[in-house]
This record gives sequence, C-alpha cells and structure tokens, in this order.
Amino acid sequence: MVTPTEQEHPKKAFGWAARDSSGVLSPFKFSRRETGEKDVSFKVLYCGICHSDLHMVKNEWDFSTYPLVPGHEIVGVVTEVGSKVQKFSVGDKVGVGCMVGSCTSCDSCSNNLENYCPKYILTYGAKYHDGTITYGGYSDFMVADEKFVIRVPDNLPLDGAAPLLCAGITTYSPLRYYGLDKPGMHVGVVGLGGLGHVAVKFAKAMGVKVTVISTSPNKKKEAIEHLCADSFLVSRDQDQMQAAVGTMDGIIDTVSAVHPLLPLIALLKSNGKLVMVGAPEKPLELPVFPLLLGRKMVAGSNIGGMKETQEMIDFAAKHNITAQVEVIPIDYLNIAMERLAKTDVKYRFVIDIGNTLKST
Ligand code: NAP
Ligand code: ZN
Ligand code: ZN
Repeated sequence: MVTPTEQEHPKKAFGWAARDSSGVLSPFKFSRRETGEKDVSFKVLYCGICHSDLHMVKNEWDFSTYPLVPGHEIVGVVTEVGSKVQKFSVGDKVGVGCMVGSCTSCDSCSNNLENYCPKYILTYGAKYHDGTITYGGYSDFMVADEKFVIRVPDNLPLDGAAPLLCAGITTYSPLRYYGLDKPGMHVGVVGLGGLGHVAVKFAKAMGVKVTVISTSPNKKKEAIEHLCADSFLVSRDQDQMQAAVGTMDGIIDTVSAVHPLLPLIALLKSNGKLVMVGAPEKPLELPVFPLLLGRKMVAGSNIGGMKETQEMIDFAAKHNITAQVEVIPIDYLNIAMERLAKTDVKYRFVIDIGNTLKST
C-alpha cells in the first residue's frame, strides 16, 4: 500500500520510524523533496542517538507526531546541490543538527540565533515551510537548505563528529555565552552522558578546570583518565558533595530526568551560574533562598545558531575533539534505545547508516 508520506514528494526515501509512543521503531518508507535552488542533498553515513530522540519517540514532551523519523546528529557526503548553493559542492562532508529552517527575519534570526527564532523548524517531527512534515537522520538521505548545513572538517572522523551537531553545540554554546570559558575557572558538568562527556572535552580545551558530577562512581576512572576531567563527585555521596560546596563558577546540567537542584546550587560560588541544558519531562523544584543569598543564577540554553555551530565544529577540529561513540547497525536501534533509557552507553550511540540501512 502506498501511504501519503510516500507520495508527497518525488524522491523515495527510507528510514526507521516510531509509529506510536511505545518506544519501538521499525523500517519506514517515505519521500523527500527534490533538491531546491538553495538545497543540499546528502547521503547519510552516520547519525547519533540523542536522548531527545528518546524523549520524542516516547512523546515525553507531549508534542510528538507519528510516524516520527528521529535523528538530528546527521553527517554524510553531498550528492547534489541546487543552482544557487554557494557554500557546498558534491563530495563535501556535511552535517545537519537540530534545525532545518527558521523565519530568517526576526531579531534572533538577524543575530545568528536561529535557535531562538519563535518559528524555528526542528529537523524532525515539525512542519516545514511547504507544509510537509520533517523527517530526521535515521534515514538514507537528507535534503536541507544550505543555511542549515554545516561543513564537517576533514580531520574529524564522521562517526565521532556526528554527535557534535547536537551534543557538541548544546554544551559549547552555554560555556561561551555564560562566560564559563575562561582559563582557570572551575566548571561542574552534571550527568556524564552524550552531552556531558562532550561538555568536559570542550571545557578542558578552553582551559577550564572541570569536575564531573555523576550518579555513580562507575564512570570515574574513565572521566579522569580519558576525558581528562580534574575531579569527580558522586552526587549521592553527601560527604563528597559537602566538601565541594561553594567551589564552582558555573555548572552545565545535562541530566535528562527530574533531579534535585539544591545540592547543585550549593556547589556554586557567589555569582555562580547553573545552566540547564537537560530537558526532563516534568518541572524541577527551584529553591529560591540559596539563589538570593549568593546572587546565583539558574539559566537555560537551547542548542546554538548556525554560525556558532560551524565555529564549534571548527574548534573541535582544531582541538581534536570528537564524541566517544559506540557505533551500531540500524537493526540494533531498539536495543540501543532501551540501553540509553538506562544510561547504559559510553557515551553516545551512533548508527552506521551508510553500511547498515538497506531499503526493504
Ligand atoms: P544521556 O546520554 O542519556 O545523558 C544523560 C545523563 O544524565 C546520564 O548519562 C546520567 O549521567 C544522568 N542521569 C540520567 N538519569 C538521571 C537521574 N534520574 N538523576 C540524575 N542523573 C541522571 O542524554 P543526552 O543525550 O546527553 O541528553 C541529556 C538531556 O539533554 C536530555 O534531556 C536531552 O533531551 C537534553 N538535550 C537538550 C538540548 C538543548 O538544546 N538544551 C540538546 C540536546 C539534548 P550519570 O550516569 O553520569 O549520572
Ligand atoms: Zn539532541
Ligand atoms: Zn526568526
């Protein structure tokens, strides 16, 4: 049977989709538009699995639409460019992150902050300018406006580079914007998952002293030895947490679930900043008194603009920063999702789309 999504556009596409909130994905045929004047088409080679994909697959944020083809850490090689494309040619290594469009004229768009455009268009599960639904990178190829395409520097391996398109920019941007990038500063990173481990790498490359704050001691050895974190706190160990009170200039909180903020606020020096990037499905409790007493700030940050995303990946290339990945075949996707829900991954699953996604 031919479904409407197969008929919408002229180009046949293939991927894996969630059909409901059960958390299970399966093969899915759909269609993509022809390469428009300003579009870049590329063959997807790798796609990272962000925890946001899991939130969306399970409709934990309550705005998912199905069928949903997730994936916003997408890298591949350009196969076709439109007549007005200026930045890319066939054969280039490129990536697409969390967004594929914006209004182009609001204050945010005018200031290279498309990520804060009220009309920004998510890479999947959103309505594109032409009214059709966007589909993400768990699929064989992508078509995107060149404005939302990033050049992947040649020295970065594509599998390890893919997560930079979301996890990378989401942690790089707040380190820069909130001024937590000054050598000698002390920054905490809460949650050593996909976002957290890249946050450690970026902060270290900026010359910052980094303390990882994790729920269990399991990741300590690797955090110190491989990720080069300076110290490690187990958040459930009250003695360790107490000893670190008032020592940090800032904290990047990447935790995907509801968790207490009070112990984290306590770790900040006066004027310290707790920056939330994790997106738990339910509100967190915010104790106000400890903020007042130390003039502390709790803030948020959402991915980054296109200009800064390119800057981030160029910085990563210069400092040899990639994600530590477990590369999986597409058939492993549902098991990977289950393991991600249990934080059983070090530190990012990346799907080998190029070699394992075959149309049936
Ligand atoms: P992830 O790989 O699953 O990492 C999250 C980490 O949080 C886990 O590894 C774990 O670290 C910690 N954690 C999990 N459950 C916890 C709990 N109940 N209490 C305390 N800590 C817990 O996820 P991710 O891909 O890095 O994404 C993290 C969050 O950021 C998700 O909510 C995602 O949707 C969101 N996100 C936001 C943006 C943005 O623009 N703001 C962009 C991308 C993703 P330990 O094992 O070390 O404790
Ligand atoms: Zn993401
Ligand atoms: Zn805008």
